[in-house]
Amino acid sequence: MDSRWVLRGLKADIVIYNIGQLVTFMEGPLARVSEDNAVIVRDAGVAIRDGKIVAVGRSSDIKSRFEGSKINADKRLVTPGLIDPHTHLVFYGSREDEFEDKLRGVSYSEILARGGGIYRTVTATREANVNDLLKRVLSVARLMLSHGTTTIEVKSGYALDLEGEAKMLYVARKLEELLPLKVIPTLLAHVPPLVYKENIQEYVNYFTNAIIPEIANRNLALYIDVFCDKGAFSLNDSKIILEAGLRAGLRARIHADQIEYIGCSKLVEKLNLDSLDHLEKMPEENSRLIAERGAVATLLPTSIMSMLEQSRPPVRALREAKTIIAIGSDYNPNNMTPLQQTVIDISPYILGLTPLEALAAATINAAKSLNISHEVGAIKENYTADIIIWEIENYKWLGYTWGYNKVLKVIAEGRIAYSRE
Ligand SMILES: [Zn+2]
Repeated sequence: MDSRWVLRGLKADIVIYNIGQLVTFMEGPLARVSEDNAVIVRDAGVAIRDGKIVAVGRSSDIKSRFEGSKINADKRLVTPGLIDPHTHLVFYGSREDEFEDKLRGVSYSEILARGGGIYRTVTATREANVNDLLKRVLSVARLMLSHGTTTIEVKSGYALDLEGEAKMLYVARKLEELLPLKVIPTLLAHVPPLVYKENIQEYVNYFTNAIIPEIANRNLALYIDVFCDKGAFSLNDSKIILEAGLRAGLRARIHADQIEYIGCSKLVEKLNLDSLDHLEKMPEENSRLIAERGAVATLLPTSIMSMLEQSRPPVRALREAKTIIAIGSDYNPNNMTPLQQTVIDISPYILGLTPLEALAAATINAAKSLNISHEVGAIKENYTADIIIWEIENYKWLGYTWGYNKVLKVIAEGRIAYSRE
């Protein structure tokens, strides 16, 4: 044993050295992303202890100052773990036959109106027992981790009644105990149940008076969310639901302007919304409203693909207004792509984001949309040690090459959660 290291070495659990390019965003969240406000370090090292990042610096300094299990990054790219700020991870069953219907020209709204889509998943999810649900969710979550996702938002919304929604959120909470994943649980008012079709007001009353306070009481959710759109909840009902959530002590986010523009994104003027998601049909001028309120526009490129949609969110207007842009998977039975790495890779093609913008959108800006940018989403001292070692050598390969897993190692909450080989 070399006594020099006992005397001088600081204790670490993991020491990553020989990083070719470390990319992070220190002054986030970022409304404008460029190499000027990113931190791009060559020949870097990172030391990790007790689940936290304790030092970031030159490779040789970090390697000699810290004792611990050493990982040679072999001159590869290292980034923060990916944050997926929009998933419907907890559900049961699948809807592959509807994919064929959509390809034949049947619209999402038509499928929903005939009792398919979300309603079909509601039936399957209500019937599923909690262990089967958890087992399915765990297998998808492991896949996410192995592709670099270390934090996920998880919505309820496929049960529509109190105990069913509670069961979904319980599974989301359980997931956090079983895997080194950070989970942000969200209570979602998804659609009014078909039995309330003629009396949606009654369901809104039930949701706001019975479901929201009880879910908040049981500490099952941190966020309230509502699907504000044609065929889901009206602008006014969405406002009532979000206000009830805020009153119960939850934070708020919204599904807005996806299918038709009925004014949903304008709710940002009246309510404290952390994130407005989708925005495919948002008028350009609303970009400024989101930026002025410091809210995040969370864009969902695989969701656009799965709707076989031509409309796109107004990315250029969002950029010009200096809106903080995040991206997410919107993993759900209509869009079965759970990987935030894939979302980064296709963002340049579907949204026109640069690889660096896409990386910020899936790390620090996604963290901001979940109100956790002070603890995850950056490689910075005292932040949670969620780190990816990639096979590629620099960030410009993101999106440039895609369709396979480019992740070599994932460190989540300070431990190795995935390693290729
Ligand atoms: Zn969604």
